[in-house]
Order: sequence, then structure tokens, then C-alpha cells
Amino acid sequence: MRTVMDANPVNIWNTIVSALRDEVPHASFQIWLADVEPLSFTGEVLAIGVPDPFTKGGIERRYRETIERIAAREFDRPLSLDVRVVDDGRKPTPPQLGREEMASQPRDTLPLNPDYTFESFVSGKNNQLAYAASMAVVDTLGKAYNPLFIYGDVGLGKTHLLQAIGNRVAEEGGEKAIVYTTSERFAIELINAIRTSTTAAFRAKYRKIDLLLIDDVHFLEGKEATQEELFHTFNELYGRQKQIVLSSDRQPEDLSGVQERLVSRFRWGLVADIKPPDFETRIAILRKKAINRGVEVNDDVLALIASRISSNVRALEGALNKAIAYAELEGVHLTPTRLEEMLPKEGQRPRLTIEHIKEEVALRYHLKRRDLEGTSRKKEISQARHIAIFLSREMTDNSFPAIGREFGNRDHTTIMHSYMKVKTLLEETPLVRAEINEIKEALAARYAIPGLR
Ligand code: ADP
Ligand code: MG
Repeated sequence: MRTVMDANPVNIWNTIVSALRDEVPHASFQIWLADVEPLSFTGEVLAIGVPDPFTKGGIERRYRETIERIAAREFDRPLSLDVRVVDDGRKPTPPQLGREEMASQPRDTLPLNPDYTFESFVSGKNNQLAYAASMAVVDTLGKAYNPLFIYGDVGLGKTHLLQAIGNRVAEEGGEKAIVYTTSERFAIELINAIRTSTTAAFRAKYRKIDLLLIDDVHFLEGKEATQEELFHTFNELYGRQKQIVLSSDRQPEDLSGVQERLVSRFRWGLVADIKPPDFETRIAILRKKAINRGVEVNDDVLALIASRISSNVRALEGALNKAIAYAELEGVHLTPTRLEEMLPKEGQRPRLTIEHIKEEVALRYHLKRRDLEGTSRKKEISQARHIAIFLSREMTDNSFPAIGREFGNRDHTTIMHSYMKVKTLLEETPLVRAEINEIKEALAARYAIPGLR
């Protein structure tokens, strides 16, 4: 097993990315972070490579803190980020553009991620149709399923399939013009084209494509000009039997805020959904990911991860990355017991404590938590305090004396008095009852209540 000193930077970075995706808006992620390449990891410093000084500056100013904070949280140790510009022969950044302009300047076409292939995709009952149709599209380009519309919840493999189609078509050669983009990027590109009076070039580019892959079309909602443009692009490509593949988080009918004529075109070909994978498929996905990463992970560990995380393949992958990175950092083998401690327990909420109750009550009545513990007799404060005490007794296992200690060391008879007072109020006053029920519900949504479940 590797030690801390040579833990794989790719695994470290992947873990950070999983968390970053939750915090950074999709469009910003694409602009700043999508091209990052993990370079090395020394145990303290993670070096990442970026294509140009603008991206370096952007990441340092906008995301360094977030990344370092995520790393500290995920790995339980501080890590500092070293951002380096690596020259890999890509087109240099035009020097005349300022930084902020860079931010809104999309790279022409999003590169395909070479890891998103049919080979690395696991097909199961959950995605059979979408998978088969994607493969078929490669062979029949523009002739059979046009457009192919894939929909499903986030993290279930839509982008993977779209890019697998692009990668396979590119592999097969034949000089096909392939464009992968997202509806957001399409919109930004259009806006820029309008701003710089280059819409003719924009149109020309999109209308000579052989394979157009547009990801996340649900973001078209409410974007009139973009829909209009896409409508014409669609017609043009469709008329010339060029293949169009679209993805969305919902089926075409449910795209409110998208023109009916566009929605109906989305349904002209084949609509295929992707559902969350079942247990066996989750195991198969994890196994494949581990193999692709060249890491040996034992079956018990995979089974544990698969049983804990069920709704989202990205989360599944995140847990695996985290497990691998953690084992490398610690220089230990992955065992189910070790893992048990660090995996998030999906669906399992933290146990409700008196502190949580105080927090919620204070928030609701615009007070400080301290007010609830203090001695103020002001009506708003003392009433809120009585309610917090009542809920502490009703919703946790704490005894009256224990609750007293948490509320400014009050005597247990004082606590009982508060409790009885609220109990009476509850029975007599519908308004108080409604209010307390609301607080209870808010707490129950976020915490596990002893005895309640
Ligand atoms: P979506 O676009 O639907 O939000 P992605 O395509 O980005 O989801 O998938 C999220 C992650 O899960 C990616 O890393 C992808 O490789 C992986 N993934 C999803 N489904 C599968 C699958 N069936 N087999 C292998 N990997 C998958
Ligand atoms: Mg996606």
C-alpha cells in the first residue's frame, strides 16, 4: 500500500471535485475548474495544473479557500494548493482579453472527456434503453433515433453517455464535425455572438455539424432567444439528417418554459430515461471504477459503499474516491470497519440534541441562543424559552434536571413548570399548537428523533 507521501493526486483531486460540484455553480465550474489536471501530492501540498495564467489567477482568487476548506474536511488534515500553469500545447489565451472577459468567454467547444466511453459505462436495468440507443446512434448517425433524448436525475450518467457517443464517433474517424455543449454554454455563446456581432459565424458553426450533443437542456427554460436559435439549428441539422442528442433532468413534456414547438421536436426521435441503479449495478459500477483507477478494493468494501449510497452514481464514485484517497493518506488497507466510520450514511440524519432545538427556536423567534439560556423575563423571550424547554423534553431523551443544566443551570422544578405551561397552552390555544407543530416538523425533517423513528 502506498503511504502518505505518494498518495495519488488524481484520487485526492477527484474527491475534492465531488464536493466542489455541490458548491460551485455548474457554469463557473466549467469555466474555471473543468480543465484542472492534478499533478502531484506531497502529503501537504496538492499541485494542480491549469492551461493558462488567467485560469490560475481565477482559481486562486475564487476557489483556493473553498478547495482548501473542502480538503481539510474530507481528509481531516490541512492541505495547501499549488496552482501551476502547464503548457500542453493548447491554444494560448488571447492576450488582449482581460480577466473578467475571460470568465464570460466560453472556450469554443467543450472538449470530450476521454474517460467517458461506452467501455467505462456499466449498463444495467436502470439504463438499458438509453445505453442501447446511444450505441445505435453511433452506427446509424442521423438515420434512426433522431433526436435521441436522454433524461434522468442528476448523477446518473447522462453526460457520460452523450460524451461516449461523441468519443466513439470521433474514434471511428471519417472527419465528422462533433460538438458537445450544454444548453447554458450554447446560451452564453449566443449572447457573446450577439454582443460581438458574430451571429453569422455562430450559426455557420452550428449548422455544419454532423453530431450535436447538447447536455442539460432543462436550463433552456425561460431563455427565449436561445430557444429560438436552437429551434433553427435543430431544423437545419434534422433536415440534413445530422444526429442530435439531448439530455435533460426531466422528460420533454415536463420542460415548462420551453416553447412547445421545440418540446415536440425533442420527442420526434427516441426518448429514453435513466433511473438510479440497483444494488448489483452499483457494485458493477464501483468495481469498474476501481479497476480503471488501477486500485484493488475488496468486495466487502464495494458492497458496503453500494449499500450505503443508492441514488446517485456521482455520489457513489465520490465515496469510492474518498475511500481510496483516505486509505492512501493513512497508508492503510481499506476495510469495511475503517470505511464504516467515514462514509456518509445516506438518509441517516444526525440525532436531535437540545442545542439543535435551541438553534431552531432562536431562529424562529429572532432571538439569540443565549437569550434562551439567560434570565430575561421579557415575554417574547420567556415564551420562546418555555417552548424550547418543552420541545427538549418531548423530542429528546433528556430528563428535567439534564434539561435544566442546558438552560442556564435552572432547577428541575423550574423546567417542569415551563413544560407544564406549554402543555396547557398547547391544549388550549390552536395558534400555539400550530406553531409548535411547525417547529417540530422543521426539526424532524433535519434530525433523527429518538423514539420517533
Ligand atoms: P449526469 O450527467 O446524469 O448528471 P454523469 O454522466 O455526469 O451524470 O455521471 C456522474 C458520474 O457517474 C460520472 O463520473 C459517470 O462516469 C458516472 N456514471 C454514471 N452512470 C454510470 C454507469 N452506468 N457506469 C459507469 N459510470 C457511471
Ligand atoms: Mg450531466
